[in-house]
Amino acid sequence: MFDEFNREVFACGEYVFKEGDVGDCAYLIEDGSVEILVVEQGVERRVLLMCKGEMFGEVALIDYQPRTATVRAAERAVLVPIRRKLLEELLEKSDPILRHLLLVILERFRGKQNKGSEPAVATKISQEQSTRRNALKGEATQKLSLAHGITRALTNKEFQLYYQPICNLLDGRIAGFEALIRWHHPTDGVIQPNDFLWLAEQTGLIREIGLWTVERACEDWPTLKQYTNYEAPFVSVNLSATQLTSETLVDDIKAIIARHNMPAANLKLELTETVMVERPEIALQILNRLVELGSSLALDDYGTGHSGLDHLQRYPVGTLKIDRAFVAPILESTQSSGIARSSIDLAHLLGMDVVAEGIETKEVCAKLLEMKCDFGQGWLFGRPVALQDMALSHKKI
Ligand code: C2E
Ligand code: CA
Ligand code: CA
Repeated sequence: MFDEFNREVFACGEYVFKEGDVGDCAYLIEDGSVEILVVEQGVERRVLLMCKGEMFGEVALIDYQPRTATVRAAERAVLVPIRRKLLEELLEKSDPILRHLLLVILERFRGKQNKGSEPAVATKISQEQSTRRNALKGEATQKLSLAHGITRALTNKEFQLYYQPICNLLDGRIAGFEALIRWHHPTDGVIQPNDFLWLAEQTGLIREIGLWTVERACEDWPTLKQYTNYEAPFVSVNLSATQLTSETLVDDIKAIIARHNMPAANLKLELTETVMVERPEIALQILNRLVELGSSLALDDYGTGHSGLDHLQRYPVGTLKIDRAFVAPILESTQSSGIARSSIDLAHLLGMDVVAEGIETKEVCAKLLEMKCDFGQGWLFGRPVALQDMALSHKKI
């Protein structure tokens, strides 16, 4: 990993830098040792010996001031320079909140260092640097406020589930519904899941949101099921990869199901392959336990991620959902239609049923039917709507 940092090798007695030099990097000692020297009445005196694994010179990285001590190799030393430019690049790539925190700490530190002394030329931060820092601070503030908003939304009941029908392609009947979350923000209006779930994932709030979603779907089920006369109707709920690593997930879902007298067989859980790739063993354990409860699993967004054959065979998945990215262009792109066709065949071979996502036209629907796809979801059949608006979109049966 250090190769990209271009190690520097110093022979015994060679100076790394001298007091008064301009410093734009810190050093990590990869091998050997260095001595820190101060000059008193023209004579160098060792004040510290630093060995492998230690870091020096970091103050100049932060305070932009000339070096305040001299450093010399006490034996052959291999050093990894950490340049200011690299630090800034890493900071820019890091999480905005973490970055904001670091910048504040660095600025406070620099303020303390400079107290009482005239700022040297090197201390001045360029206009460009300052503009960039302000932009970074803005980004961090936005993220913090969104995270705060999500927490408030849970308490203030600002989330709502919309339901989108999933239809049997042969007869067009509604077989089930997918629950999709919406955030009714008090000032910003309706916020779509892709605009806030990423942060809920990062902060761990997704666990609470996820359980709220299951609870709400079970609560709504008695009303929802009146919109279908399908023999084995279902409501499917999305589970995030983060939730699937929670040890209490199965017990939490079990408790929710019991609280609402929800038949487990009517609850389907949608997940993506992410967790199977990142935490394969835990995922297998948890998914098996979920299926033991009586619920079924659907593999979401098939085709976009890793799409390992191994996942389909190893995990107890009953439904494959082909991603909209392959369904929408099915008539124009032979590649997309090839992927859709082979996914359907593969799923059937493994005893799974298939839902095609994002069906917007009759022509696409007909093509999927010809490919023997079982179910479809998309604007052709209905957009996601709130429970109270279902009556406008679908008749009660
Ligand atoms: P998804 O699970 O793939 O859900 C399908 C998305 O496609 C939904 O977007 C739906 O509104 C949209 N869609 C359905 N039919 C069509 C169509 O014919 N054309 C087009 N253009 N779009 C269609 P939505 O509701 O914005 O949700 C986006 C994603 O957010 C979902 O993708 C899912 O990954 C995530 N999500 C939504 N609700 C939840 C939730 O309660 N929990 C978790 N963990 N994730 C959720
Ligand atoms: Ca889904
Ligand atoms: Ca999907």
